Formats: sequence, C-alpha cells, structure tokens
Amino acid sequence: MTTSEQLFEKAKTLIPGGVNSPVRAFRAVGGNPIFIKSAKGPYLYDEDGRQYIELINSWGPMILGHAFEPVEKAVRDAVQYSFSFGAPTRKEVEMAELIVDMVPSVEKVRMVNSGTEATMAAIRVARGYTGRDKIIKFEGCYHGHGDSFLIAAGSGAVTMGVPDSPGVTKATAADTLTAPFNDLAAVEKLLINNQSQVAAIILEPVVGNMGCVLPEPGFLEGVRSLCDQYGALLIFDEVMTGFRLAKGGAQERFGITPDLTTMGKIIGGGMPVGAYGGRADIMNVVSPAGPVYQAGTLSGNPIAMSAGLAMLRHLQEHPEVYTRLEEIGTKLVDGFRAGLAKTGLTYTINHIGSMFTLFMTDRAVTNFSEAKTSDLALFGRYFQAMLKRGVYLAPSQFESLFLSVALSDDLVSQIIQANEESLQEALA
Ligand code: PLP
Repeated sequence: MTTSEQLFEKAKTLIPGGVNSPVRAFRAVGGNPIFIKSAKGPYLYDEDGRQYIELINSWGPMILGHAFEPVEKAVRDAVQYSFSFGAPTRKEVEMAELIVDMVPSVEKVRMVNSGTEATMAAIRVARGYTGRDKIIKFEGCYHGHGDSFLIAAGSGAVTMGVPDSPGVTKATAADTLTAPFNDLAAVEKLLINNQSQVAAIILEPVVGNMGCVLPEPGFLEGVRSLCDQYGALLIFDEVMTGFRLAKGGAQERFGITPDLTTMGKIIGGGMPVGAYGGRADIMNVVSPAGPVYQAGTLSGNPIAMSAGLAMLRHLQEHPEVYTRLEEIGTKLVDGFRAGLAKTGLTYTINHIGSMFTLFMTDRAVTNFSEAKTSDLALFGRYFQAMLKRGVYLAPSQFESLFLSVALSDDLVSQIIQANEESLQEALA
C-alpha cells in the first residue's frame, strides 16, 4: 500500500468520501487520490515522494507557480503581526484600491473568504438592488455550492452526478432559471416569460466548469444588452477567469462591462479569499452603507490579504506574465493538436490563453449537452496514463486545465509527449 492509499483509507473513516471537496476523490477517473505533501514552481510532490507536473495549480490560484517567493515572503512578513483582528486594516484598503484599479467594471469591492461566498452575496445584492427574486444561470456553469446555484451545476456537481443537489428547497430552485450556454434566444425567452422578475443573469464569461467552453462571438454582448433591455443586472463570475485571461479578467479581454463581478482563486494567492464588486450605486446597498446584509469574521484576513496583494501586485507590474501564458498555452495546445492528428483522432480542444480542455468527443463543444457527449471512460484511462507519466490533470472531463508561468518550454515538450503516449495507451 502506498502512503496515499493508507491516508485515503483512514480519511474515508473520518471525512465524507475521504476528501474535503468532492472531485479530489478521483471518483470520475478511478484509482486512489494522490495525497500532496508539498509543491514548488511547476511541480507537486506526493506523500510517496513522487513528482508531478502541475496542470491544475490548485484549480487556478497558482498562476505564478507554487510557493512563488514574493507571495511566500509577504505571508512570512505578515504572520509576525498576528493572524486576525476582526477590525479594519490598511491592507484591506490597499487590496480594494488594487482591485478597483485592475478590474475595469469594479468601483467598489467587498472581500469575502471564497468564491462561493462571493457569488451568494452578489445575487443577494442583485435581488436587494432590483427588488426582484429570480436569477438566470447557464447549464453546466458552476458558481460555488450556494443553494441557488446547485441547479444544472457543472464542476464537481456534474462529476458526482448531482447537478441538482438534494437539500436545495423547491422554493429556492424555482427562483433559478437555466438556459444553455451560448443560446441568446433561450435567455430572451426566459426574460419574456418572467417579465420584471429576473434580478440578474450570472455566468462564467469563459466557462471552466463544464470543461473550457468559450463564448461564441456576440454572446456576451447579447447577454449584456438583454440585461439592459429587461432591467436585470449582469454578473460576471470571474472566480476562474479573473486575473487569468487578462490582468482585468475576461471583462477586459472581451471588452464587456458587467454590473457586478465575483472573484476568487488568484485574488488570494492560494489563501482562502473571494471578493465581489461592481458599480458603486449597486455596491452601496451592501451593509453598513445600505440594507443588504453580508459579513464575515475572517473577511479581509491580514495574512490572506498579504498573499493576495503580493500576487496581484506582481501581475499588475509584470504584464509579460500574460504574454508568456499565451505562449505556453498556444505551444501546449498546438502540440496536443499535432498529437491528435498523428493518431488520426478528431477530439475537440477548447482553448483560450492559459485555460484549455481536451474533450474526448468529435463534436464541437459550445454548451453543456455537447460537453456531455465526451467519452468519460476514455477520459478516465487517459487521466491515469498521464498521472503514471507524472502529469497531474484535473480528475474530471468537466474541468478546465490551468497553466502557470512556471512551465518551461522543456516541461511543455514533456507534457506533449506524455499526452501522445497516454492517448495511445487509453485507446489501446
Ligand atoms: N465560481 C466559479 C466560476 C468557480 O470556478 C468556483 C470554484 O471552482 C466558484 C465560483 C466557487 O469558489 P470556491 O470553491 O472558492 O467557493
């Protein structure tokens, strides 16, 4: 038995399913989850001393690679002043200023502790501001585990076969309307059938949680104008895309201005941080400026703020990070495409910047039902073959991969080689 196997056996007796977040259990790909001991730069190291090249990067945050020195130093410097005050700090002001500077649509921002908290608060604010109850989300989009979002949810919810989770009341579910991603006509129909009832449309501007799915040309613009026409707020959930697809996220990359934005992952440099922000007149409904209540004992935690500030400052001061991420993404995806061509396969790769997914299907993937045409058993075998070759992928077809600048050209070549061999092994 490996140490990971021993730990998992014990974990299953103590933690539901042995993990603190479902996809980590490897249910969708089989085998025993790898227990991680440490990580540095582009590598993860497990409890059995094996090294893996990282293509998840903590599901997004480690865009500069693991234990990036300026972030590590910021945390070390901060801990000597204690870990939490539950009172305002200078760092929170600096963080807010930095976010407002970097994210085009954000005029005011509130810090929370996770992406889930950010999205839950954002829809409460939208409901409080508009006086309306319903929201529209897209099938296969994941916005954390708040009740309102576990309706046709992506990510771990679909991986575990529970896109509509038990435990969500019928009344809550009835207020969440869903449409297929990239389908403007379906969105307009919902708005027409629910006149003056829709508080907000929330979406991942580039989806990461049904695998990587890009907005078709005109889709984001169309959703923006439908929101304006029907008086709903537009919420961009940039928990994955924020500070990744550009310094100012997908909204900067696509030139669309949402009313509210939710953020997470990179914003905390690997610490538990989320945020939501947007137009000042909307954010001014948040307590204590306004009546919509939202709070947090550890919100704006000084250690987490220190990590996040170091991360965001580095990104702001080094635009070459984004050039390099584009370069790495293009090299890797070109290599994967060449590998597919060599093997005579016509599987679909969706790619933008440092996010991509190889879907085990010949169909174009522009929405959730197309993503679900993927051969999941084949993906499981491919995942295991990659793992055996020391490449750590997301353990589910319905996830995007996230690249970091720590990947050298040499590592990119190694991954391309592993991909070709793993496809052949999985298909044999
Ligand atoms: N929104 C999106 C787009 C996400 O990808 C996630 C998590 O993966 C969340 C929200 C929830 O964030 P957290 O897991 O930090 O609660």
